[in-house]
Amino acid sequence: AGLPYIVGNWKMNGTRAMLNEARAIDRAAARFPKVQVGLAPPATLLFRMRDAVELIGVGGQDCHASENGAYTGNVSALMLKDAGADFTIVGHSERRDYHRESDADVKAKAEAALSAGLSVILCIGETEAQRDAGHAEAVVTAQLEGSCPRMDGAPDKLSIAYEPIWAIGTGRVPSVEDVAAMHKAIRTRLVAIYGESCVDVRILYGGSVKAENAAELLAVPDVDGALVGGASLTAESFLSIVGAAA
Ligand code: 13P
Repeated sequence: AGLPYIVGNWKMNGTRAMLNEARAIDRAAARFPKVQVGLAPPATLLFRMRDAVELIGVGGQDCHASENGAYTGNVSALMLKDAGADFTIVGHSERRDYHRESDADVKAKAEAALSAGLSVILCIGETEAQRDAGHAEAVVTAQLEGSCPRMDGAPDKLSIAYEPIWAIGTGRVPSVEDVAAMHKAIRTRLVAIYGESCVDVRILYGGSVKAENAAELLAVPDVDGALVGGASLTAESFLSIVGAAA
């Protein structure tokens, strides 16, 4: 399903000084033409990062479902596009948890982003309690069912990021067998939702991806890339993950 896609989610990290990391990542990306690379900085850095880089994609971490209006503190998909974004993340577990976003909210955001001309990285993933109870696949496929956007064509505009919540920022990762089983279940459900054309939808793994485990995770069937948090904050660690995808 297209080139491997490695995306850095900076979360609430980064002031102008960190644009140097983005420049270094962008320059080095030329050495890996077979990998698609993206960075999602805080919204305050989008404009400047857009000007600072040439090869890599830049994106938002969230968007509002409306184009504009009385929503203090929010940023719309149209605004991200206007600031030079190529894509946006929606439905990250930190948004679902700390901002009470439902599947329906995430679906509306994804549809707004696609309408604004952005690609979408839609995040799903189970809690540790849900996995321990044996419900991980049911939870994740229900999230997919509830939050996948309606799409008229261009399935390559959508990527799914499977991020088990217990693996985010913890240094713990699922076994390759568990990653393979979940990505297969996601692929099967995507076919049920969109039909066979969804082979172009990439399924990324996220959660404690590091230089040391990237090659192993990226070799798993149906893992088409990675969504990287902490290890995307320096060019050195992020580029070793990009290199592992090449
Ligand atoms: P970490 O790579 O820091 O575990 O974060 C993963 C994540 O949430 C990316 O969106």
